[in-house]
Amino acid sequence: MAEMLYEGKAKKVFATENPNEVVIYYKDDATAFNGLKKGTIMDKGIMNNTITTFFFDLLGKNGIPHHQIKKLSERESLCKKVHIIPLEVVTRNIAAGSLAKKMGVEEGYVLKKPIIEFCYKNDDLGDPMINDDYAEAFGIATDAQVQEIKALTLKINDILKKFLAERKIRLVDFKMEFGTDADGKVILADEITPDTARLWDWDTNEKLDKDRFRRDLGNVEEAYHEVIRRLTGK
Ligand code: UDP
Repeated sequence: MAEMLYEGKAKKVFATENPNEVVIYYKDDATAFNGLKKGTIMDKGIMNNTITTFFFDLLGKNGIPHHQIKKLSERESLCKKVHIIPLEVVTRNIAAGSLAKKMGVEEGYVLKKPIIEFCYKNDDLGDPMINDDYAEAFGIATDAQVQEIKALTLKINDILKKFLAERKIRLVDFKMEFGTDADGKVILADEITPDTARLWDWDTNEKLDKDRFRRDLGNVEEAYHEVIRRLTGK
């Protein structure tokens, strides 16, 4: 059995014989509200491994450096080992959730330009929102890394937004994590899935993401399946 290096809420990370590569295993466990709400979504691990692989392939073809090497099995992907930069990078195109509440607009308010938010990845602190100065002042990321993350984020948002629009999906918001590879280069890591992105049907604004679990809307598995169907045409 390979050594487990880390277990998170939705994934496990295992060592491989190559010190620069890891295997990521996708679980069915679902959590929300910083772990307060727990459950499982049937076959989520299988669906999210498929969806992440799909998005990383798409982004790779468009020149975005990322950690995924290849999908190994239903629930496993081989990835480059990275040092995760402890930032949750949230990009928003449409106001939803806490942002709609904070700014006093309806969910669905179309932002005049995308917003990039940084949160300090720390469960004990509840992932507090920070800015570029905090990131640098607390040694979370260097100025160069912050600038690189922002530039990559805007490019990724453009690629995904356009691709999803063609498949009748609105990219409302999404969370990314970046890491540094063995050469110290900043690359996209973690996952891009309906767990970490708000995806709405273009015509009806029906939610095709983890908000169905968070808000007990039902048909959670069906929503993830629908995303796969629209991405792959299958
Ligand atoms: N998000 C995530 N993990 C987190 C926090 C947020 O994947 O720990 C994603 C979430 O799915 C959504 C976006 O980031 O797509 C914005 O999330 P936020 O927590 O700001 O949600 P809100 O507070 O707007 O409900």
